Amino acid sequence: LVSLSIHNISKAYPNGRSAAAVQALRDVSLTIPNGMYGLLGPNGAGKSTLMRTLATLQEPDEGQILLGEIDILKQKDEARQALGYLPQEFGLYPKARAEDMLDYFAVLKGITHRASRREVVQALLKQTNLWEKRRQKLGGFSGGMRQRFGVAVALLGSPKLLIVDEPTAGLDPAERVRFLNLLSELGEKSVVILSTHIVEDVSELCTRMAIIDQGRILLEAETLKVVEGI
Ligand code: ADP
Ligand code: ADP
Repeated sequence: LVSLSIHNISKAYPNGRSAAAVQALRDVSLTIPNGMYGLLGPNGAGKSTLMRTLATLQEPDEGQILLGEIDILKQKDEARQALGYLPQEFGLYPKARAEDMLDYFAVLKGITHRASRREVVQALLKQTNLWEKRRQKLGGFSGGMRQRFGVAVALLGSPKLLIVDEPTAGLDPAERVRFLNLLSELGEKSVVILSTHIVEDVSELCTRMAIIDQGRILLEAETLKVVEGI
């Protein structure tokens, strides 16, 4: 079991026309233990920027991120093996069957041995409750099914860290509950960081949380204490 520590991360985006840059992250430091961790903040707070930075998809201007022994910003290959990322929006080839697409992503993840790949793909389809849908085309998937498929992709390679960006936006209530239950199972075995603007996502699911606004961490605490204080 590992933990994730984020040290003094800052990021500014240059702004096209005006001289002022957008300061998306300002000296963000967080220590994230095992389990479910919520990053709560309004639109534009910097959540996606932080999630993409953790996923090695974007460079910050300053700071360091450690996942156990791995320096995420310097050891990108090791980091990518150790983490899974569910982006806010992702495209899926609509004509592909779920099972075939997951198999293809497994190859990309480096699981080249055919028999072990079949085992991994089966286990993930069952875990995400998509086993019965495995032969359906992704183009016909509902929002909830898409998100659960995204989790299956993110879980290829058994990551120690799962990064989930605004996963419940657009899900209907039943799908949302089902999705959050899936995440909470995962939180028992790894670090799961969940970004959201929905207070209930955090209060129902996460043991610890941070609140971010305008790129700054305003508060970091056990969820229960914060929710009782509201
Ligand atoms: P959130 O995910 O909390 O909505 P973001 O990280 O997407 O926040 O955005 C933080 C701030 O950075 C916002 O002001 C947003 O407009 C700006 N921003 C995000 N991505 C870019 C980009 N690629 N170029 C310029 N500005 C950006
Ligand atoms: P989020 O808030 O979750 O990042 P957005 O709709 O703000 O979602 O952003 C969608 C995409 O647009 C992201 O890739 C983000 O980097 C980019 N983006 C956001 N704000 C800006 C901006 N002001 N200028 C350029 N790109 C931006």
